[in-house]
Amino acid sequence: MSSEALYQELILEHNRKPRNFREIENADRTIEGRNPLCGDQLTLWVKMDGDRIADAAFKGQGCAISKASASLMTTAVKGKTRAEAEALFDRFHKLVMGQLPESEQASLGSLRALGGVSKFPLRVKCASLAWHALHSALENDEREVSTEREGPEPPPLEGA
Ligand code: ZN
Repeated sequence: MSSEALYQELILEHNRKPRNFREIENADRTIEGRNPLCGDQLTLWVKMDGDRIADAAFKGQGCAISKASASLMTTAVKGKTRAEAEALFDRFHKLVMGQLPESEQASLGSLRALGGVSKFPLRVKCASLAWHALHSALENDEREVSTEREGPEPPPLEGA
C-alpha cells in the first residue's frame, strides 16, 4: 500500500469513528467553528490544567476531512502546553499549505495523513477548521471562528 492510500484509509477511519467526539461538561473554553465554503461546523471544548491542555473534544458535522482533522487534532494536543499546541498548529498549517519540508514531516505523526490536502486549496480550510478553533480557544478571544474571517496569513510563528 502506498503511503497515500494509507493516509486515505486513516482519514476515512477517523471520519467513521472520530476520537474525542463528545462534550466536556466542565470545559474552560467552548468555541464554535464554521467553514461556510464546505458547510463544516463543529463545537470544540477544551479543558485546561494550568498552561496544559488537559482534555479536548468536539462534536459537529461536515466532510470527512474536517471530521478526521478534528479527531486527529484533539488526540494530538491533549497533554500539550499552550505553546506546544501552537507550535504544532504552525507545523500542521505549513503541511497543509505544502510548505513543510519533508524532513520535518515525521514529527507530525498521524497528522501527516492530511498533507494531501495541500493540492486542494478548498480542502485546506476543512483540514484547518478544528485548529483555528483550538487557536481561538487558547487565546480565549472569540466565541466563534469562521474560515472566511481568517485572512490569508498563516498563524503567528511560535516556538519556531
Ligand atoms: Zn469540509
